Amino acid sequence: MVEPARASASEVSSMRPGAEPNDAGPNDAEPTGVGAPVSVDRLVDVLRETFGAGRVGVDVRLAPLTSFDIGGPADCLFDARTADEVAAVVRLARETRVPVTLLGGGTNVLVADRGIRGLVVRLRQARVDMAGADVVCAEAGVSINGLVRWLVTRGLGGLEAWAGTPGTVGGAIYGNAHYGGHLISEWVVSATLLSPDGSIVEVPAAQMAFGYDCSRLQTSAEILLRATLRVIPDCDPAHLRVVARHSLMHRKRTQPLHLPSAGCAFQNPVSGRDEVPAGMPWSAGALIERAGLKGRWVGGAAVSMVHANFIVNRGGATAADVRSLMELCRRDVLAQFGVTLRDEIVCLGEF
Ligand SMILES: Cc1cc2nc3c(=O)[nH]c(=O)nc-3n(C[C@H](O)[C@H](O)[C@H](O)COP(=O)(O)OP(=O)(O)OC[C@H]3O[C@@H](n4cnc5c(N)ncnc54)[C@H](O)[C@@H]3O)c2cc1C
Repeated sequence: MVEPARASASEVSSMRPGAEPNDAGPNDAEPTGVGAPVSVDRLVDVLRETFGAGRVGVDVRLAPLTSFDIGGPADCLFDARTADEVAAVVRLARETRVPVTLLGGGTNVLVADRGIRGLVVRLRQARVDMAGADVVCAEAGVSINGLVRWLVTRGLGGLEAWAGTPGTVGGAIYGNAHYGGHLISEWVVSATLLSPDGSIVEVPAAQMAFGYDCSRLQTSAEILLRATLRVIPDCDPAHLRVVARHSLMHRKRTQPLHLPSAGCAFQNPVSGRDEVPAGMPWSAGALIERAGLKGRWVGGAAVSMVHANFIVNRGGATAADVRSLMELCRRDVLAQFGVTLRDEIVCLGEF
């Protein structure tokens, strides 16, 4: 857990829990100084003049914009509809020294109870285009489900098993989303990124530093604008639909979809980095379950009875409840199995 007093507003706003304060997140504008209050008034005026008053939200509750249904307000919220708008608002935020936090679908984040200082930009650009016989270009705001539907209808294979993965292309690439033993990066050809200096660069997948649950976006302060993805042409849409339906059914059977959550709370242990006792599965969920933590709760947050790596909001959970429960899981799993669980959920805002 990070000491808020030691980290700048922009560092806190986009940090993975467990990261060091100088591990800059992807979404930082200029640091605003230790404990410096953030004033968004000037930025709000400029955004309203540029885009119209109706496009700029002030003091907006973020809980409804997340799958966890948890979190306090954003000082300022802007939904960007095009890559040009993303670039423009980030530039204006830098000029007014307001920290920026990116939100995709809000399905892998825990927003602090005190909310997020500065500007929160939601990426809503949602175009998919063919970029060759076996390549598509998807904007960062496209939902993974929308992308799968678009591909399946056109007989383009590869991603159909990802049906039911919540969130956007941007969030999936930020965390290198995984399903069924595969990583989304296996399909990425290149990524178009907005750099902190405002320039736009196209980066081949090999330079994205993809690994299990990670990409260079977690440390580079870049924003994904769009991605080109490899697809398999000339597939039978009916067959792709069967695979997609199978994935959806599998998720319904194995995940607590009836309650708000942010997906898996912890990363699975990784060979070479972690040591798991002989005979134990290399699975965070299995370790939590074997530690006897299924059903444990703190306030409104509980370890799911369906899938022990899901922390669910059973009603009225706060971010503090979730953090306490995660610490309890981490402590017990370490004590019983000697494995340190690392967060998969990204904490955003003032903890
Ligand atoms: C029921 C459920 C099931 C899930 N199943 C899976 C699963 O099978 N596999 C899996 O991997 N995950 C799963 N998740 C987690 C989540 O769906 C994925 O991690 C998803 O890819 C997050 O995308 P998002 O758009 O919601 O990102 P958000 O939650 O909005 O953001 C996550 C992080 O990405 C950053 N970010 C978002 N967009 C950009 C961008 N354009 N540029 C730079 N940074 C950006 C944000 O700042 C934040 O730090 C599940 C979640 C739920 C609720």
